[in-house]
Amino acid sequence: MQISVWEKESFFAPNDVVILGSGLVGLWCAWHLKKQQPASKITIIDRGIIPTGASTRNAGFACFGSVTELMADMEKSGEDAMLQLVDMRFRGLQRTRKILGEKAIGFQLSRGYEMITAAKDPGKAVLQQQMDYLNEKLSPIIGSSPTFRFAGNKIKKFGFGQTAHLLENKFEGGLHSGMLCQQLMQRIQAMGVTILNATNVTHFEQGPEGVNIYCHYRISDTPQSLTIKSKQLLVCTNAFAKQLLPDLDIVPARGQILVTSPIENLPFKGTFHYDEGFYYFRDLGDRILLGGARNKAFEEEATTEMEITQTIQQELENFLSQYIIPGKSFTITDRWSGIMGMGSEKMPIIKEVAPNIFCAVRMSGMGVALSALVGEDIAKRMA
Ligand SMILES: Cc1cc2nc3c(=O)[nH]c(=O)nc-3n(C[C@H](O)[C@H](O)[C@H](O)COP(=O)(O)OP(=O)(O)OC[C@H]3O[C@@H](n4cnc5c(N)ncnc54)[C@H](O)[C@@H]3O)c2cc1C
Repeated sequence: MQISVWEKESFFAPNDVVILGSGLVGLWCAWHLKKQQPASKITIIDRGIIPTGASTRNAGFACFGSVTELMADMEKSGEDAMLQLVDMRFRGLQRTRKILGEKAIGFQLSRGYEMITAAKDPGKAVLQQQMDYLNEKLSPIIGSSPTFRFAGNKIKKFGFGQTAHLLENKFEGGLHSGMLCQQLMQRIQAMGVTILNATNVTHFEQGPEGVNIYCHYRISDTPQSLTIKSKQLLVCTNAFAKQLLPDLDIVPARGQILVTSPIENLPFKGTFHYDEGFYYFRDLGDRILLGGARNKAFEEEATTEMEITQTIQQELENFLSQYIIPGKSFTITDRWSGIMGMGSEKMPIIKEVAPNIFCAVRMSGMGVALSALVGEDIAKRMA
């Protein structure tokens, strides 16, 4: 199919910046780049009809780390790196709420909790020590203290089984991931950003006037190809980035989720973590959203395939009936998965990989929180 002169001079005219990926990172990058250069021509290209990676397929947590997750991070990467990430996550969420408005993204400061089961209980004294340490270190970031405290008095009220302790974080909450992406999309489109969906970028190369970006799409079943030109290219394809930038240290990590039908008199509200953040659940009104358990099958879950598996879904159902709503019957109405981008360290990769080619990828399962700041960072580097 040939391109019309109108299309050539509008949708497909040469760009100042082309962004690959319309997930949260691509969208926030576009927002910051447009704020920086309102007259710039920016196009986002995504292979999905909507963002199809992690951004609309996560659990909608607005969180910056549970006690066991932060202690594990410190053990692995040291105190400075752990605190730097908390700072980025906390500020990123604040920025998101401020710019987009809490109502527009379904944000609720519903409080976050960490469940410590009897089987994984290090003892109250150890937990107290860890919370004291984190409360002191996080106080300048949060601007208030304490962040974490015991909330054992809520275990019975919430109806949890085999739970030794509950640690509460009053600064965490939940949001609606679909509303967040849609809101951001509408904002940037109103600013003049073009989004091309259902368009797969196969490769790119440096040309004399910038970067040539080679795309494939389909009209009915007929394959079409298209080359888009841009002065700069920004890759925001997170877990899928190795396809275009094979040297990056990125490993895909699938996160699976299930949602129950309504539970009568569901006794809890809020976002809950367990086991260093590998399990997470929250109320969705009177339903429960539960996800994670990737640590039960690390190798199997290191994939970009957006399937669900019996192993993980069964493990989640067991967790639901053992710890969250013991003795209650439930049915599952929805199941899905999303793909996160991990690597040997948790810090995102935000850099120029070649002249005029940049990337902002590897959100390490924290991109809801990080993306507003990541966008700001890359926009400055690309100025
Ligand atoms: C189950 C789950 C739970 C999570 N929990 C949390 C949490 O509690 N807190 C938190 O902060 N974060 C969480 N996250 C992580 C968060 O959702 C991600 O870090 C964030 O959405 C990543 O955004 P992104 O834009 O970098 O990537 P994505 O949303 O994956 O977007 C990448 C886009 O690139 C497109 N793409 C890929 N390849 C190509 C190509 N060749 N051509 C064109 N387009 C392409 C894809 O279609 C996709 O839309 C979770 C994620 C999952 C899956």
